[in-house]
Amino acid sequence: MNRFQILIVEDDAPIRNLISTTLKTHDYKYLLAKDGAEALLQASTHSPDVVFLDLGLPDMEGVEIIKKIREWSNMPIIVISARSEDEDKIEALDAGADDYLTKPFSVEELLARLRVMQRRIALLQSDDEIGDSPVYTNGNLKIDYVAGCAYKGDEEIKLTPIEYKLLCLLAQNTGKVLTHTYITQKIWGSAWDSNVASLRVFMATLRKKIEADEESVSYIQTHIGIGYRMLKV
Ligand code: CA
Repeated sequence: MNRFQILIVEDDAPIRNLISTTLKTHDYKYLLAKDGAEALLQASTHSPDVVFLDLGLPDMEGVEIIKKIREWSNMPIIVISARSEDEDKIEALDAGADDYLTKPFSVEELLARLRVMQRRIALLQSDDEIGDSPVYTNGNLKIDYVAGCAYKGDEEIKLTPIEYKLLCLLAQNTGKVLTHTYITQKIWGSAWDSNVASLRVFMATLRKKIEADEESVSYIQTHIGIGYRMLKV
């Protein structure tokens, strides 16, 4: 039996059944909630490892649920949204959601997102054991936080201060989608449109520097209209 317990928050019964059946088939434990009130009750009494949260619920905005949960917990929240709720999805990520799935989604996609969360949790737990590591490694990529340098293999990557800040921000949130607003606020302290435009430029040069042509490795994933994510390779 998988030790992971997942809370499914979804008012649409067929989708709720699809998710629960999938989880059951893969030996995950799960809890169900069909509205916001039930979701908060389940989340607070059972502290699930991961929450799948539908944004369109009958009694409460999904974003409100995220904000409430974030008052006491960092439990990973994967938002489930319809295409028409794209703006809500961005708001949800800014409110503290960790990832998202867009309806209609495949069962494989759902399980893949769940595995990303499991890896992140495992990583966080191992971090706890050894304390905060001053060195970040991901595939061939290495950041020495103390020296303030990044390396590809043994070779130092020449980065501008903003590129370095961007890389650290993405690295510290590996596996998590960071929205344009979130990133620009962290890097420039504001989220103006001109900053979002600059962000694209900085991201393009950063990518060129960390993702060598000869390797097929892609560290930074673009989420069009939303933001970026550092992948664990
Ligand atoms: Ca719904």
